[in-house]
Amino acid sequence: MTGPGLEFTPESAKPFLQEVMERSGQKLTACYQCRRCAAGCTVGDETGFFTPNILIRNVILGDRETALSNPLVWKCVSCYTCGTRCPNDIQTARITETLKKMAKEAHIDPLQPKVAAFHDSFLESGLRWGRVNEMELMGVYECRNILRDARDGNYDAIIDELKGQARLGMAMFKLKRMHTGFMMAKGRKEIKALYKKAKQRRQAPAGMNP
Ligand code: SF4
Ligand code: SF4
Repeated sequence: MTGPGLEFTPESAKPFLQEVMERSGQKLTACYQCRRCAAGCTVGDETGFFTPNILIRNVILGDRETALSNPLVWKCVSCYTCGTRCPNDIQTARITETLKKMAKEAHIDPLQPKVAAFHDSFLESGLRWGRVNEMELMGVYECRNILRDARDGNYDAIIDELKGQARLGMAMFKLKRMHTGFMMAKGRKEIKALYKKAKQRRQAPAGMNP
């Protein structure tokens, strides 16, 4: 078996690297593997071998398969600690976000389905109302989880999930941290338009961006 490093050629690696750099806005080629990001990663205990510098290395080597499906992409909490520590100002949170989107577009099953469900529910609610409505977010998120568990015949997980969320909801109500009304942001149309424009830019062939 050969690793991606042994199969590497600049020509084969370039398209994937270029796409990730353009979509994330991060200059991955500036990384010189000092590992300052790895030393401070908040989820380092859970991602093991997969540190931000390793993820960047995979993208540079054009190892698309590994870069789109690994624990760091799905467990990164976008805390930006790594970016703050990076001497080259590389924000790995933007890279993991980009790779999540690319994995979804490629119909790759997420390693953490709950993270993917939360991500989609959050984005949909934010786009619909211009801000996230907690009741809607949690309702849609839970429906997604329950449907997936029901499809997999995982009924104990459904009961655990419902119990856990009921406990959390009650605690939030008591602390007055749960809003029941649907609130809209004044600028929601502008937010939708911005999102649409960003999507069009991403889908336009190189050199054709408005
Ligand atoms: S801190 Fe920055 S330059 Fe150093 S390994 Fe991480 S991403 Fe690369
Ligand atoms: S932004 Fe993500 S990759 Fe960077 S330190 Fe936080 S959890 Fe780790």
